[in-house]
Amino acid sequence: MFNLILFGPPGAGKGTQAIKIAEKYGWIHVSTGDILRSEVSQETPLGLKVKAVMESGILVSDELLIEIMESVFRKNNTAGGFVLDGFPRTLNQAKELDRMLVKFATKVSLVLSLDVDEEELLKRLLVRALNQGRKDDTEEVIKNRLVQYHKHTKPLIEYYEAKKLLKNVRGVGTVDEIFTELCKSIPE
Ligand code: AMP
Repeated sequence: MFNLILFGPPGAGKGTQAIKIAEKYGWIHVSTGDILRSEVSQETPLGLKVKAVMESGILVSDELLIEIMESVFRKNNTAGGFVLDGFPRTLNQAKELDRMLVKFATKVSLVLSLDVDEEELLKRLLVRALNQGRKDDTEEVIKNRLVQYHKHTKPLIEYYEAKKLLKNVRGVGTVDEIFTELCKSIPE
């Protein structure tokens, strides 16, 4: 089982690339943001619980995310691989992920980090807000999301660097150019 983490700040293009990677390698794309948004739109008990938090650009609790991921792995335990998009986002989640994967006799295989500078991120997120009307993409919320990234998620770079699992890929260029660069780091 190949477990790839697609890492990067909001607006780096993780979702777009994760879909393409999952398709090419036959892996399962897991977007925790999509999972949560679907719970919100179906107004499930979980969705109702996380709606306000998500709409303000703050992270949902580690506990809930870990529960969601456990269930994803349990349901797909014969998969050839996973592309994790948006998880882990805190050090605690990263440590729990390691523990979880041990239970399924596997581990994180590779972390590909999409690098995009802050100015470009803001520009992209504002354009996305206009085009998709995502409730969590207003200017204030976008800023919150970037603050959350710097505070909670960026420290994961060091965590995975220490484990020699991290590779940086420049997240600027066309979708296909970036995809080609990402694939160069993935073993055939
Ligand atoms: P995304 O689409 O990945 O940007 O996620 C949208 C929102 O869902 C985030 O701003 C968080 O509120 C929540 N979320 C998604 N993944 C996580 C995670 N791993 N940990 C905490 N909150 C998350």
